[in-house]
Parts: sequence; structure tokens; C-alpha cells
Amino acid sequence: MYRLSVRVVVLGSDPVVIDPAVPRETAGVEELLAQKPEAAVIAAHGLEAFFRASVALERGVRRVVLRKGSMPEAWMGEIAARALVLSGETFERGDDERYTRLRPGPRVEVAAPSFDEDVTPAARGEPLPLTAPEASLECEEVAFAMGLKPVLYLVVAAHAVERVRARYGELVTREDRLRSGGQSGERTYGVGEAVVHVFVGARANEAAELWAGDSSRNVEALGALMGYPHCCVRAFAAMVSRRINAAFPFVTAARTRALGGTFHPLLDVTTSRLVPFVPCTYSCPRAIEWAERVAAAASVTRRARTVVYFDEARAVALDRASLDGDTLSYEGPRWATEPNDRLQRAFGAVFAERGTVVARDGALTVNGVAFSRGVILPFA
Ligand SMILES: [Zn+2]
Repeated sequence: MYRLSVRVVVLGSDPVVIDPAVPRETAGVEELLAQKPEAAVIAAHGLEAFFRASVALERGVRRVVLRKGSMPEAWMGEIAARALVLSGETFERGDDERYTRLRPGPRVEVAAPSFDEDVTPAARGEPLPLTAPEASLECEEVAFAMGLKPVLYLVVAAHAVERVRARYGELVTREDRLRSGGQSGERTYGVGEAVVHVFVGARANEAAELWAGDSSRNVEALGALMGYPHCCVRAFAAMVSRRINAAFPFVTAARTRALGGTFHPLLDVTTSRLVPFVPCTYSCPRAIEWAERVAAAASVTRRARTVVYFDEARAVALDRASLDGDTLSYEGPRWATEPNDRLQRAFGAVFAERGTVVARDGALTVNGVAFSRGVILPFA
């Protein structure tokens, strides 16, 4: 039996032996975490358990208890590692009702695939048409101009700094090198093209200092200074692959599904972005509010659509699609990332004009052709 001198909540709907007075999750985790519990018992398994445990730690719950065997050992190790980052403690409750403190394991980005393999199909067909162009939007600058964020932060090519200075006047700058791109969109600093980190605003110096130290603690302080929602900043700080852009849609989609959320069209980040941060879920009310304000200021409208996302260079948007269990039926596929004739032909051969996409265990099958990675993002 749990000591009820601490405020305990149960997250998840699996059966658990516990005092019936302990609040249980009925309509999502938000309302329970809003009660600021000191401990959370996770009554779920798999991704639902992993992301409930992570969210509890992110929201400041000090003690999180998981049922032994409720998820793979490697994920248990990752949750314990997150607890260190987020100043919490994690325990495993065995079949003998004993509690063991979880030991941090090697970091692993749960729900993110490997981006080593090139998933481009070998076939060549009619090139997929491009999605309707959306006015190019510098969401970071729009948000700064609106006062949504106190500090503007840009990474620009060295030769473009003067243009930024002409626009904003006084800048705080830090020279660096950056190599980015490829399938994963991974950003590696210190090598590659000459770039400058530019900070603008009354607290620009403070932001530049925080940025220079790259700890998780700084990620949080910097996120706060940027005006980003606290829930999204904590979720980002907990991540391992913060420099791998292609990991974000996979992780955010898995979190959204695990927590029972929906995919808001304004948080569709696969073409142009309305928020300059990684939303904690695609249904995060605070991220949606940000996106709504930027969209209103920049006169952007978004139609609901489903995106089949493989990585930063490969995503297909489907204007008409319906999801039934793990099978998506669609018509009218369009190329959603950077125009590229070779890729548009390769994916055109597989997607054709209509068909089905089946998602299972992190892999996709498109009209019978298997892809080792890919995620369906039903922004609706
Ligand atoms: Zn959030």
C-alpha cells in the first residue's frame, strides 16, 4: 500500500492495486498533473507507460513508479536517465510488491528510428506534384515582432549577418561552423559552413551566454528566455537527439498517440513551421495558441491533411486520406519537402494516384512496398 501522506496519482488505465481514494486518469493526464502530485504510479505499458512517466517527470512529479516488465529494460534505463535530467526519482515495483530504484541506462531516443538507411525507392515513375506553396514564413521573426518571444535567435550564414543587422540594429553574435542536412537533418556545430548565431533583444547577452553552455539546465533556461511554453521546453530538454530534426516528428507523434491526443493542423511542421520550438505533443494547447497567434499575424491558413513522413528530405502530403486502425487509404499524394525531381519520381512510382499505407511497429508499407521507417501524421 502506498503511504498517502504524499499526494499520489495513477496515470494510465491498466489495473493496479491501490487505495481507491487515489485519483486515476479519466480524461487524459493533464488534469491529474495539474493537481501537482508528488508521486505518480504508471498503470500502463509500452509507449503509453514510457511517455506517461516522462511527462510526469517533466511536470515536476518527484517520484515515478513503474510496474516491472511494463516496458523494455532499455526504456526503463532511459526513464531513469531522464529523471536525473529532470530532478526526479524512478522506481520499479516488482511482482513481490517490492520497490527498486531504477538505474540510468545508456540514453536512447524512444520512438525515433535510425536515419542511416536511405529509404528512397529504386523505381522511377511520374514525379509527385508539389504541395501548394505556402508563403515562406519566418515564424521566429514574426513571433519576435509580435512580442511573443523576448529574444530573437537566428543561425545565419556569415555573409548574411549584415542584412540582419540592417533590420534589427544592435546584435549579439557568436561565430561558429555548422554542417546540417542529409536524411536526418542533423546539425553538427564546429565543422562545415561558417555561420553566426544571432541574438536580438534586451536580454540577448543573457541568451548568448546560456546558449554557449550546452547542458540540459541551459536548454530550460534558454527556452524560458525564448518565451516557449514550459511543457514543450521540458519535453525537449528530456530528449536525447535534440540536434536531429528528423527525430522530432516521430517522437512527437508517438507522444501524442500515447497520451491520447490529436494532431492539430497548425502544428504541422513538415513544410513551413508556425512555431520555432518542438511542441511537446501535436495537441499541446499552449503550442496551438502560439501557432494561432503567428498564423493570424502572418495571415496563414492551414487545411487539414495527412502527412507520411520519412525524414527531413522525404515527406508526402495527402489531401484526401482516411485512417482505419493502422491502415490509411488515400488519394492525391503530393511532395511536401524541398523540390527534388529524383525523389519525387522515386516516391511517385510507389505512391501512385491512390492507395494504402499500413503502419506497423515503426515501419510503413506503401502499396505493398516496405519502408524501414516512416510515420503517419494525421493533422486534422
Ligand atoms: Zn507543450
